[in-house]
Amino acid sequence: MRNLTPSLVAIHRDLAADDDARRRIDAMMEHIRCDDVREVDDAGLVTLCRERWQQIPRWGTLTAAAHDPDIVFNRFRLDDSPEERARRLALYPELGERALNGYGSVTWRDDGNIRKTEGAVCTSAWELHSIHGCVFRCAYCTFGGIINIAANVEQQIRPARRVDGAQHLPDALQVG
Ligand code: SF4
Repeated sequence: MRNLTPSLVAIHRDLAADDDARRRIDAMMEHIRCDDVREVDDAGLVTLCRERWQQIPRWGTLTAAAHDPDIVFNRFRLDDSPEERARRLALYPELGERALNGYGSVTWRDDGNIRKTEGAVCTSAWELHSIHGCVFRCAYCTFGGIINIAANVEQQIRPARRVDGAQHLPDALQVG
Protein backbone atom coordinates (compact mmCIF):
# COMPACT_ATOMS: atom_id res chain seq x y z
CA MET A 1 0.00 0.00 0.00
CA ARG A 2 1.49 3.35 -0.95
CA ASN A 3 1.28 6.35 1.32
CA LEU A 4 -0.68 9.39 0.14
CA THR A 5 0.79 12.89 0.33
CA PRO A 6 -2.08 15.40 0.03
CA SER A 7 -1.37 19.04 0.82
CA LEU A 8 -4.56 19.24 2.95
CA VAL A 9 -6.65 16.88 5.09
CA ALA A 10 -9.95 18.25 6.44
CA ILE A 11 -11.89 16.29 9.10
CA HIS A 12 -15.52 17.24 9.72
CA ARG A 13 -16.24 18.12 13.35
CA ASP A 14 -19.51 16.19 13.27
CA LEU A 15 -17.43 12.99 13.37
CA ALA A 16 -15.89 13.86 16.75
CA ALA A 17 -18.37 11.76 18.77
CA ASP A 18 -18.34 8.82 16.35
CA ASP A 19 -15.80 6.33 17.73
CA ASP A 20 -15.99 4.01 14.69
CA ALA A 21 -15.35 6.91 12.35
CA ARG A 22 -12.45 8.21 14.45
CA ARG A 23 -10.83 4.76 14.48
CA ARG A 24 -11.27 4.53 10.71
CA ILE A 25 -9.69 7.94 10.19
CA ASP A 26 -6.78 7.10 12.52
CA ALA A 27 -6.11 3.88 10.60
CA MET A 28 -6.14 5.70 7.25
CA MET A 29 -3.99 8.54 8.58
CA GLU A 30 -1.21 6.01 9.23
CA HIS A 31 -0.78 6.01 5.44
CA ILE A 32 -1.31 9.72 4.82
CA ARG A 33 1.58 12.18 5.09
CA CYS A 34 0.27 15.73 5.42
CA ASP A 35 1.45 18.83 7.29
CA ASP A 36 -1.95 20.56 7.12
CA VAL A 37 -4.62 18.54 8.96
CA ARG A 38 -7.63 20.67 10.00
CA GLU A 39 -10.92 20.12 11.76
CA VAL A 40 -13.72 21.89 9.91
CA ASP A 41 -17.46 22.40 10.19
CA ASP A 42 -19.84 23.04 7.27
CA ALA A 43 -18.84 26.71 7.13
CA GLY A 44 -15.17 25.69 7.10
CA LEU A 45 -15.82 23.39 4.16
CA VAL A 46 -17.53 26.25 2.34
CA THR A 47 -14.43 28.41 2.92
CA LEU A 48 -12.23 25.65 1.50
CA CYS A 49 -14.55 25.36 -1.51
CA ARG A 50 -14.09 29.07 -2.19
CA GLU A 51 -10.33 29.05 -1.57
CA ARG A 52 -9.26 25.75 -3.13
CA TRP A 53 -12.04 23.82 -4.85
CA GLN A 54 -13.82 26.34 -7.08
CA GLN A 55 -12.56 24.53 -10.17
CA ILE A 56 -11.44 21.06 -9.17
CA PRO A 57 -8.94 19.85 -11.78
CA ARG A 58 -9.60 16.55 -13.54
CA TRP A 59 -6.88 13.92 -13.55
CA GLY A 60 -6.20 14.43 -17.26
CA THR A 61 -5.25 18.07 -16.65
CA LEU A 62 -2.80 17.34 -13.81
CA THR A 63 0.87 16.44 -14.20
CA ALA A 64 2.24 13.19 -12.82
CA ALA A 65 4.13 15.23 -10.21
CA ALA A 66 0.98 16.86 -8.83
CA HIS A 67 0.16 16.33 -5.14
CA ASP A 68 -2.27 13.63 -4.21
CA PRO A 69 -5.79 15.05 -3.95
CA ASP A 70 -6.91 17.01 -0.89
CA ILE A 71 -8.74 14.61 1.43
CA VAL A 72 -11.96 15.31 3.31
CA PHE A 73 -13.14 12.89 6.00
CA ASN A 74 -16.83 13.66 6.06
CA ARG A 75 -20.04 12.57 7.78
CA PHE A 76 -22.51 11.30 5.21
CA ARG A 77 -26.02 12.18 6.26
CA LEU A 78 -28.60 9.55 5.49
CA ASP A 79 -30.17 10.24 8.86
CA ASP A 80 -31.05 13.90 8.20
CA SER A 81 -34.75 14.76 8.26
CA PRO A 82 -36.16 16.24 5.02
CA GLU A 83 -36.34 19.63 6.80
CA GLU A 84 -32.70 19.49 7.92
CA ARG A 85 -31.62 18.35 4.49
CA ALA A 86 -33.49 21.24 2.83
CA ARG A 87 -32.01 23.69 5.33
CA ARG A 88 -28.43 22.57 4.68
CA LEU A 89 -28.86 22.44 0.89
CA ALA A 90 -30.12 26.06 0.95
CA LEU A 91 -27.46 27.24 3.40
CA TYR A 92 -24.45 25.56 1.79
CA PRO A 93 -24.98 25.32 -1.98
CA GLU A 94 -21.20 25.19 -2.52
CA LEU A 95 -21.08 21.81 -0.79
CA GLY A 96 -23.02 20.13 -3.60
CA GLU A 97 -19.70 19.58 -5.35
CA ARG A 98 -18.40 16.01 -4.86
CA ALA A 99 -21.13 15.39 -2.26
CA LEU A 100 -19.30 17.54 0.29
CA ASN A 101 -22.72 18.25 1.84
CA GLY A 102 -22.86 14.58 2.91
CA TYR A 103 -25.68 13.69 0.50
CA GLY A 104 -25.26 11.55 -2.60
CA SER A 105 -23.94 8.42 -0.91
CA VAL A 106 -26.89 6.37 -2.26
CA THR A 107 -27.79 6.81 -5.94
CA TRP A 108 -29.97 4.98 -8.46
CA ARG A 109 -28.03 4.21 -11.65
CA ASP A 110 -30.78 4.22 -14.24
CA ASP A 111 -28.81 3.39 -17.37
CA GLY A 112 -29.10 -0.40 -17.25
CA ASN A 113 -32.01 -0.70 -19.66
CA ILE A 114 -30.33 1.67 -22.12
CA ARG A 115 -27.11 -0.33 -21.98
CA LYS A 116 -28.97 -3.58 -22.54
CA THR A 117 -30.24 -2.25 -25.88
CA GLU A 118 -26.58 -1.67 -26.75
CA GLY A 119 -25.77 -5.31 -26.06
CA ALA A 120 -24.10 -4.64 -22.70
CA VAL A 121 -24.74 -6.74 -19.61
CA CYS A 122 -25.00 -3.81 -17.17
CA THR A 123 -28.25 -3.43 -15.30
CA SER A 124 -29.78 -0.54 -13.38
CA ALA A 125 -28.83 -0.64 -9.73
CA TRP A 126 -28.59 1.15 -6.44
CA GLU A 127 -25.06 2.39 -5.88
CA LEU A 128 -23.62 2.94 -2.41
CA HIS A 129 -20.76 5.42 -2.47
CA SER A 130 -18.38 5.59 0.46
CA ILE A 131 -15.83 7.73 -1.40
CA HIS A 132 -16.20 10.46 -4.02
CA GLY A 133 -12.79 10.71 -5.67
CA CYS A 134 -9.87 8.46 -6.52
CA VAL A 135 -6.06 8.48 -6.45
CA PHE A 136 -5.40 6.40 -9.57
CA ARG A 137 -4.98 9.26 -12.07
CA CYS A 138 -6.64 7.81 -15.19
CA ALA A 139 -6.41 10.64 -17.73
CA TYR A 140 -10.03 10.30 -18.93
CA CYS A 141 -11.51 10.36 -15.42
CA THR A 142 -13.62 13.20 -14.05
CA PHE A 143 -12.08 12.72 -10.60
CA GLY A 144 -8.92 14.47 -9.42
CA GLY A 145 -8.05 17.24 -6.99
CA ILE A 146 -10.14 16.15 -3.99
CA ILE A 147 -11.36 12.96 -2.32
CA ASN A 148 -14.45 13.10 -0.11
CA ILE A 149 -14.52 10.07 2.19
CA ALA A 150 -17.56 8.95 4.21
CA ALA A 151 -15.96 8.07 7.52
CA ASN A 152 -19.32 6.97 9.02
CA VAL A 153 -20.06 4.02 6.74
CA GLU A 154 -22.00 2.20 9.48
CA GLN A 155 -24.70 4.88 9.24
CA GLN A 156 -24.85 4.32 5.50
CA ILE A 157 -25.42 0.58 5.78
CA ARG A 158 -28.39 0.84 8.17
CA PRO A 159 -30.79 2.75 5.87
CA ALA A 160 -29.49 0.86 2.84
CA ARG A 161 -31.10 -2.27 4.30
CA ARG A 162 -34.42 -0.41 4.39
CA VAL A 163 -34.34 0.38 0.66
CA ASP A 164 -33.27 -3.09 -0.44
CA GLY A 165 -35.61 -4.13 -3.23
CA ALA A 166 -37.39 -0.77 -3.35
CA GLN A 167 -38.01 1.00 -6.63
CA HIS A 168 -37.33 4.45 -5.28
CA LEU A 169 -35.53 5.81 -2.26
CA PRO A 170 -37.42 7.76 0.38
CA ASP A 171 -37.04 11.49 -0.24
CA ALA A 172 -34.63 11.85 2.67
CA LEU A 173 -32.14 9.55 0.92
CA GLN A 174 -32.18 11.13 -2.52
CA VAL A 175 -29.03 12.63 -3.95
CA GLY A 176 -28.35 16.21 -2.97
S1 SF4 B 1 -9.53 4.00 -11.29
FE1 SF4 B 1 -11.58 4.67 -11.99
S2 SF4 B 1 -12.22 6.24 -10.52
FE2 SF4 B 1 -9.99 5.97 -10.27
S3 SF4 B 1 -9.05 7.54 -11.57
FE3 SF4 B 1 -9.23 5.66 -12.81
S4 SF4 B 1 -11.22 5.82 -13.88
FE4 SF4 B 1 -11.20 7.33 -12.20
